[in-house]
Amino acid sequence: MAITITFHDNLRKLLPPRFRGLEKVHHLLNRDASIKDVIESFRVPHTEIRQLKVNDREVSFIYKVQDEDQIDVHPLRPPFDVFHPTLLRPVPLDNYRFIVDVNVARLAIFLRMLGFDTVYHNRLTDPDIAKIAQQQKRILLSKDRNLLKRKKVEFGYLVREAEPLQQFFEVVRLFDIKGQDILPFSRCMKCNGLLHPVPKEKILSRLEPLTKKYYNTFHLCDKCDQIYWPGTHREKMEKLVKEIKNIN
Ligand SMILES: [Zn+2]
Repeated sequence: MAITITFHDNLRKLLPPRFRGLEKVHHLLNRDASIKDVIESFRVPHTEIRQLKVNDREVSFIYKVQDEDQIDVHPLRPPFDVFHPTLLRPVPLDNYRFIVDVNVARLAIFLRMLGFDTVYHNRLTDPDIAKIAQQQKRILLSKDRNLLKRKKVEFGYLVREAEPLQQFFEVVRLFDIKGQDILPFSRCMKCNGLLHPVPKEKILSRLEPLTKKYYNTFHLCDKCDQIYWPGTHREKMEKLVKEIKNIN
């Protein structure tokens, strides 16, 4: 089988170096394969694809490639609306929920800081992560292409930026996260548990003298018992919230 694949826009950067400069990739195939497998053999995880066309007709990931197919692969682009069905992702999400891989772990802290339910454990295996993403309808954020290629991962994104804060803005932009989507100070940055207001007198014995002196409002994590108060975290967070509003 001889097929032609056009990787559009920034997808070309993901290809093995010898294909990056090509307008179209001519490819010989000596086996039956799904379009997902063929495209992923060029190092492009299916999570990065917004739309697939064969001979100008839209197809899904299970399409079996035929001789002389002209394939167009279009990348995700902002705003990536995860709340409406598409041919590639027929069951949309009902909320922003994330799971992050160890290679973008600090992203979890930023997401939780703004109230997003974000799973991260450094001991999860790749199969575990894919399974959780599928079962709990979570968006997988990772730099590991092999993990993103897993079939169970329906919603995911290959994070390109290197710095955690820039990664965070990359995610905010792509998924079109707006000021009204965020709920600062509602979730524990350490464990993803929910925070609840707690009267100062209940936790007085656990506070450092200066915290005791200067702060009066406190939140407690219902999972790991961590205490939060409006100290440095809040300043950092308010700056983030402002920047998110600037992006939108
Ligand atoms: Zn916690």
